[in-house]
Amino acid sequence: MLGAPGSGKGTWSKFLSDALGLPHISSGDLFRRELAKDSPLGHQLRSYLDEGKLVPDDLTIRLLGQEIIEGTGQQGFILDGFPRTMAQADALDALLLDSGQAIDRVVEIQVSEQVIIGRALSRFVCEGCGQPYNTTTMKPQVEGICDRCGGRIVRRSDDNEQTLKQRLKAYREKTAPLTDYYQRQGKLAVFPNDGPPDRKAQQELLELLGQAEPVNEVAD
Ligand code: ADP
Ligand code: ZN
Repeated sequence: MLGAPGSGKGTWSKFLSDALGLPHISSGDLFRRELAKDSPLGHQLRSYLDEGKLVPDDLTIRLLGQEIIEGTGQQGFILDGFPRTMAQADALDALLLDSGQAIDRVVEIQVSEQVIIGRALSRFVCEGCGQPYNTTTMKPQVEGICDRCGGRIVRRSDDNEQTLKQRLKAYREKTAPLTDYYQRQGKLAVFPNDGPPDRKAQQELLELLGQAEPVNEVAD
C-alpha cells in the first residue's frame, strides 16, 4: 500500500487484512511497537520518527525483512508503509524472489493534500494494534477503547504540523517515484480516497484487487 501520510494506508490495510484474511505488516506499527518498548533500537528509531524523517534504508530493510520472513506464509500478506524508497523496493524484490513469491498488486491511495493534513491532525491510533480512528468519520464504539483489540487509543507523537510537513516532503521526494516503477510493471492500481471509508469505498478497493467479494464479512 503506497500513499502519503494521512492518506489512509493503515485504515485500508487493516480492512484488507480482515476482509481477505491475510496478515498485515506495517512498518510504522512495527517501529512504534519498538518505541513503546524503550529499547536501544527504540531510541534510535525515535530520533527519525519524531522528526518525520525516513528511517535509514539498511535498518528498515533489516527489520522489515525479518518481519516478512517470520510473519508470513505462502498465502500472501498486505504490506503497509514498506517499501518507501527505491533501495527498499529493490531489496523487497530480492527477498521475495528468494522465497518464490512476488508482488501481485500495488495500491496507490490518492488523496488531496488538504484532506491529508486535516486527517493526520485529527487522527488517533490504537496503541495495541495500530488501528487509526478520528473524531468524525471513524469513532470507536467506546470512547478511548479500540473496537478491534480493546487497546488504548492515543495520539501519535508525530501527528503535528511541523513533523507532518517533513513527512509529506519525504513522501514526495523518496516514495512517490515508486509509483512509476510499479506502473511500468503493470502492477499499479490507483485508489482515490478523499471520501469516508464506507461500504462503497470498500467495494471499490476490493474490485481494484480483482476481488468481487470479501472472503470474510467485515463491519462498516
Ligand atoms: P505515515 O505514512 O502517516 O507517515 P507510518 O506509520 O507509515 O505513517 O510511518 C511513520 C514513520 O515511520 C515515518 O514518518 C518514518 O519515520 C517511519 N517509517 C515508516 N515506514 C518506513 C520505511 N519504509 N522507511 C523508512 N522509514 C519509515
Ligand atoms: Zn487495537
